[in-house]
Amino acid sequence: MKLPNFLEDEAFNQLRKKMGTSRYGYFKLFNPKYHLTGQERSLLELQGKKVSIRNLVPLADSTWAFKNTRVILYLPESSVYHLAQCQKLKQHEYVYISTKREGDLPLIKQETRTASLKICEHCLQVLGYKGFDLRKNRKVAYSQKILQEFSRSEFFRLYRQYPINIEALLEKQANITQNLTPVLSQRQHRRLKNTF
Ligand SMILES: [Zn+2]
Repeated sequence: MKLPNFLEDEAFNQLRKKMGTSRYGYFKLFNPKYHLTGQERSLLELQGKKVSIRNLVPLADSTWAFKNTRVILYLPESSVYHLAQCQKLKQHEYVYISTKREGDLPLIKQETRTASLKICEHCLQVLGYKGFDLRKNRKVAYSQKILQEFSRSEFFRLYRQYPINIEALLEKQANITQNLTPVLSQRQHRRLKNTF
């Protein structure tokens, strides 16, 4: 059976004109290997998720992604949360992740409790967030202000939270087979850790 070519369909083209669009749309097939499912999305928002750091993707801009979404990393016993590949994460195999852009971070299995954590200053240093640099004397006061006034929702306006085009990145990783886990080989992971 030959399907009609809708790109040449007069009625559709008129409609497209009316909508003021000159380009054709496109869509991506949902792939749970790369894309967060609805369930994962609400889990990350409402409860957080405990993951091995190997399941996260270190992005070139020094932030972290879980599948196609930038995430916040934290440890409930700590007083800070992380947004970058900072040295403080070096010791940890497992971390909690969330996508919550505002307010306290969720603590798993303790739905009535949340963790009131602050942004990690080492992460801001790694990112050079808005010119943050505590190593330069002339910038200390300015950087302290950035630290005090830090807002995750503002951060995710500058670093798009979702979606990240992760497919191309992951396809490059030679060890990707059927599963996303582990994203990095042992060697790659060691190398990454050494670059923190
Ligand atoms: Zn950090």
